[in-house]
Amino acid sequence: MELFTEGDPIADTKAPDGPIETRWERRRFEAKLVNPANRRKMTVIVVGTGLAGGAAAATLGEQGYHVKSYCYQDSPRRAHSIAAQGGINAAKNYRNDGDSVHRLFYDTVKGGDFRSRESNVHRLAEVSVNIIDQCVAQGVPFAREYGGLLDTRSFGGAQVQRTFYARGQTGQQLLLGAYQALERQIGLGNVEMNARHEMLELILVDGRARGIVVRDMVTGEITTEMADAVVLASGGYGNVFYLSTNAKGCNVTATWRAHRKGAYFANPCYTQIHPTCIPVSGDHQSKLTLMSESLRNDGRVWVPKTKGDDRSPKDIPEAERDYYLERIYPSFGNLVPRDIASRAAKNVCDEGRGVGPTKLGVYLDFADAISRLGRKAVEAKYGNLFEMYERITGEDPYEVPMRIYPAVHYTMGGLWVDYDLQSTVPGLFVIGEANFSDHGANRLGASALMQGLADGYFVLPSTIANYLAAGPLEKVDGSHPAAVEARADVEDRIQRLLAIDGDRTVDSFHRELGQIMWEHCGMERTEAGLRKAIDEIRSLRDQFWQRVKVPGTGEGLNQSLEKAGRVADFFELAELMCIDALHREESCGGHFRGEHQTPDGEAQRDDDRFAYVAAWEFTATGQPSVLHKEDLKFEYVHPTQRSYK
Ligand SMILES: Cc1cc2nc3c(=O)[nH]c(=O)nc-3n(C[C@H](O)[C@H](O)[C@H](O)COP(=O)(O)OP(=O)(O)OC[C@H]3O[C@@H](n4cnc5c(N)ncnc54)[C@H](O)[C@@H]3O)c2cc1C
Repeated sequence: MELFTEGDPIADTKAPDGPIETRWERRRFEAKLVNPANRRKMTVIVVGTGLAGGAAAATLGEQGYHVKSYCYQDSPRRAHSIAAQGGINAAKNYRNDGDSVHRLFYDTVKGGDFRSRESNVHRLAEVSVNIIDQCVAQGVPFAREYGGLLDTRSFGGAQVQRTFYARGQTGQQLLLGAYQALERQIGLGNVEMNARHEMLELILVDGRARGIVVRDMVTGEITTEMADAVVLASGGYGNVFYLSTNAKGCNVTATWRAHRKGAYFANPCYTQIHPTCIPVSGDHQSKLTLMSESLRNDGRVWVPKTKGDDRSPKDIPEAERDYYLERIYPSFGNLVPRDIASRAAKNVCDEGRGVGPTKLGVYLDFADAISRLGRKAVEAKYGNLFEMYERITGEDPYEVPMRIYPAVHYTMGGLWVDYDLQSTVPGLFVIGEANFSDHGANRLGASALMQGLADGYFVLPSTIANYLAAGPLEKVDGSHPAAVEARADVEDRIQRLLAIDGDRTVDSFHRELGQIMWEHCGMERTEAGLRKAIDEIRSLRDQFWQRVKVPGTGEGLNQSLEKAGRVADFFELAELMCIDALHREESCGGHFRGEHQTPDGEAQRDDDRFAYVAAWEFTATGQPSVLHKEDLKFEYVHPTQRSYK
């Protein structure tokens, strides 16, 4: 059977034209408004309380809509965004080092290897400056310089210092800001908060998104929740690889269920592998830990020059070390973008120069920074990260270099959205990491928080009004046949999973799926590997539906059941990721095809054939998906071979 078919091209009909600096302003002006008295009569469901969903729910509540907010954690402020460490970009140019909205736009389009939309990225760069003002006004304790001004630091892929940060806890502080705004709206009765509730299905009425089916994870009760529009802010799907830096709960269920109901899934194969994670230490691990990219401001990456050099790092003299990023990429050095740094680490390890017990590691060394700045200064900037490293590895990074290796970290793919952040299903909006977003084939560091907050505080609240203004929609409730059917599907699926009563745990399937994905759809992909992976995923998925053991019942807290549902969706997504990677016969950003590289091993794009967004349409279980291409146009930043040398 063929793997996919090709359908009509898709276009972003909402994207304005004209000078790029004026597009967002024009779209905002031309979009219809909902008057305040009517907002009170409208309900918007927001799934997710991370930076994107938390910011959106708080802002929509403030605007006067009735908002129903959902998350699977026990509190909205435990969303995965809390884990973000390093910082958030903004084109404030406080340092007067040459930054501007245009430069942030330029760096991001180039950093994404010319696979993102210019209009969206420009809007992101414009809005970035408002985000910092908004968060400062909320009291987010950004780091400050001695004189009291906000401090910034460097992140990969940029030669200016535009990353605002709160020590190594930027996500936590930003999320507390969004959470306080959200709590205020909860207190005022504008937002109804439903923690420990998992969305398991999307409800469509007359082709529009009108509600969701949720399971109360504590009581097991399944209900239908209706609204005038649905916003998914459910995060990324990196956990399809089993081992990743994502929180264990991160999953694809909300977006995958929407995909099955008609929302196209864009660029699923674009995965970001982060270069600075603590290396895998054994089979017992269920997650990996990130060491923030901010560490590359002061840490120097190196391996021994000689293969198999087992000496302790302190005994390897300077002349016998290879600071390979500084050597290969002299202009950006240790601050090359993540895709480049990750591949370089893989290459030196493949050459047999890796360090540590598994030899899948490179050093990140602070000795120079400590002698230049003093231990206290290094501690002030990175203290919590150093402590975390020491707790996990038992090694003191003030004394010996950290050992790091690339790991799955972020997914640039996600549900396809137009300029208004609306998916191909009318009334279904997707924000934050859950959409295919503005990052193209590679995301620059510190730009996910920027995008999540841009979407949540500024973009969605303007664009969703344009959709709602066309209402009011006919009122529907849980007795509508579409709601009844969606709910029955969820109940059925749960019963099917419980009834298998096999002999293998959900985790064992998930781990095996992750191994297949890491091996064949990870840092380097080849045609043969991807074909093999597709066969292996299909056969493992068949086994899953025959042999998985989900103990307990659906009538209460059941973590195996939660995981089983998520892993079942990961199986379907994994296959689409491999098909997407297989059809894209070029290398770009995080998608590196072994067959397509320059003579010096860099990613080789094929702009003539692949300068498009791949938007996949679900047809039916077991049937090939349909590929719709959205052509990318570059009027301001012309695609070139990306160079950081
Ligand atoms: C360790 C780490 C460090 C990072 N550091 C940085 C950084 O320094 N700078 C940067 O820019 N980016 C960073 N990132 C990336 C960034 O943190 C994420 O991309 C971003 O926080 C995602 O935000 P979000 O709001 O889209 O989703 P999330 O924060 O993942 O929130 C998802 C929400 O959706 C809910 N949800 C999901 N599925 C369902 C469902 N089916 N039903 C109900 N609720 C559901 C969850 O409960 C949660 O509330 C980092 C990522 C990691 C893993």
